[in-house]
Amino acid sequence: MKVIYKPKFLFQNLRFLENKAVLVENGIIKKIDDFEKVYFENKDAKIIKWDKLTMIPGTVNVHNHSFQSLLRSVATDKPFLVWRDEALYKFSPMLKEEDIYTGAFFAFTEMLRYGVTTVSDFFYVHNDGIKSDEAVIRAAKDVGIRLVLARTMYDWDGAPKGYQETIEVASKNIKTLAAKYQGDNMVTISPAPHSLHAASLDMIIKGHNLAKELNTKCHIHVAEEMFEVNDTLKNHGLRPVELLDKIGVLDERTVAVHSVWLNEKELRLMGQRKVNLAYCPSSNMFLADGVTNIPELIKNGVTVGLGTDGACSNNRISVFEEMRMVSLLQKVNNLDCTIINYNEAFAMGTENGGKVLGIQVGKIEEGYMADFVGIDADDLSLQPIYSENQSLIPNIVYSMQPNAISNVVVAGKERVINGNVVSVNEKDVVKKVKDLIGRLN
Ligand SMILES: [Zn+2]
Repeated sequence: MKVIYKPKFLFQNLRFLENKAVLVENGIIKKIDDFEKVYFENKDAKIIKWDKLTMIPGTVNVHNHSFQSLLRSVATDKPFLVWRDEALYKFSPMLKEEDIYTGAFFAFTEMLRYGVTTVSDFFYVHNDGIKSDEAVIRAAKDVGIRLVLARTMYDWDGAPKGYQETIEVASKNIKTLAAKYQGDNMVTISPAPHSLHAASLDMIIKGHNLAKELNTKCHIHVAEEMFEVNDTLKNHGLRPVELLDKIGVLDERTVAVHSVWLNEKELRLMGQRKVNLAYCPSSNMFLADGVTNIPELIKNGVTVGLGTDGACSNNRISVFEEMRMVSLLQKVNNLDCTIINYNEAFAMGTENGGKVLGIQVGKIEEGYMADFVGIDADDLSLQPIYSENQSLIPNIVYSMQPNAISNVVVAGKERVINGNVVSVNEKDVVKKVKDLIGRLN
C-alpha cells in the first residue's frame, strides 16, 4: 500500500523544508519531493496530512533490557552488586514467558510513546529455549516497534540458571531465530555475548563468528565498571579492549556497550578497528559507572549511538532524553561547552543509531525504513522558534518535553496519533503491570 505523508515541515540534511511529501511503499521511503510532484505521480496513494506537525526521523535506542522495566524502583540508589542481588537476581528467575511479554510490552509502549521507533533489546532471560525470546518479539510486533533482538550468550555459572546456556545451545537458538525472522524488516536477530565477565572467551569468539555468518552486528558490554578491567588484567594480563582485540572480535561488526574504563591505547584501538559504541549516558550517571571519553572515541573514528539501558538504571527510556544527557555530561566532564553540539547529539540518537545497529533507519531518505516522529512545534517547550532551521534542533535536544511528541510512524504506519498509542490501551498496560507486580511481591 502506498501512503503520502505531507508534514508542515520536513527535516532533511539539517534543514526544515516546507511543502515536501514523503512517499512510503511497503514500509520503505520510496520518494521525497515537492508535494504536487509526488501526488501527481501517485494519485492512488492515501494522503496523510500533518498540517501542524514537523517530521523528524524516529529515534533509535541502541541498548535496552526490556524486562528491567518491571524492576524500576527496586533496590534503587544501591551499589551495583547490591542492586544485582536484590533486584535482578531476586526477581528475574520468577519471570515466566508471559511475564517477559508483559515487561517488553510495557517497555516498548512507553518508548514508542516517546518517539523510539527502533529498539535493540539485549535480552538474556532465556529460561531454557527460545520461547521467552519469542515473547519479546511478539510484544514488539503487538506494540508496533522495530526490534533488534541482541540475543545474549551467557555461560558464567554465578548467574541465575535461566540466563545460562552452553555455546552449542546458544548458537543453535540464535540460528533458529535468525532463520525464522529472515526477511522480516521489523525484526533482526544479532548475537550478543554478554561481556568478558559473563561469557567465556570461546563463547565470545563463537558469537562474533555467528555475526559474520548471519551478516549482523555483535553486541557486547565492555568495561562498564572498573572490576572488569581488574579481572581481565589479573586473569589475562590485558585490559578488556586489548583482550577482545587479541581474540579477534574487535571490528566494524562489534557494538561495544558503555566502554567507560578505557585507557588511551584502547581508545585508539576502538577507532582503528572501526568499532561501534552503544553509549548510555543516563545509565552511567545513575549507576555512578563513570564517564566514557566520547570526544576521543569520535575523533578516533568510532560511531556513537545512544541507548537508554534498562528502565531500572536510568529511569527514563527516551532517546530524546539521552541526546540531552550526552551533551550535558560531556560538556561538564570536559569543561568545554562546544565539545558535543546539538546536531551531533541529534545524529547520535537517529542516523548513528541505524549505523550502529546495521539497519536502514534513523534518516528520512529514499531507501530508508519509513520511521518518523511528528512533533508539535507549537508546544510550549519548543518556544521560541526564531527560525525553524536555527531553533528547532537545539530546542528538540535541550528543551523539548514528551508532550510535544504527537505522532509516531513505524514502517509507514501511524502507531501513535495525538499522543495516544494506537494498538495499545495504556490503561490495560498499567493494569497488566500492576497485576504482575502484585504476584511477584
Ligand atoms: Zn546493558
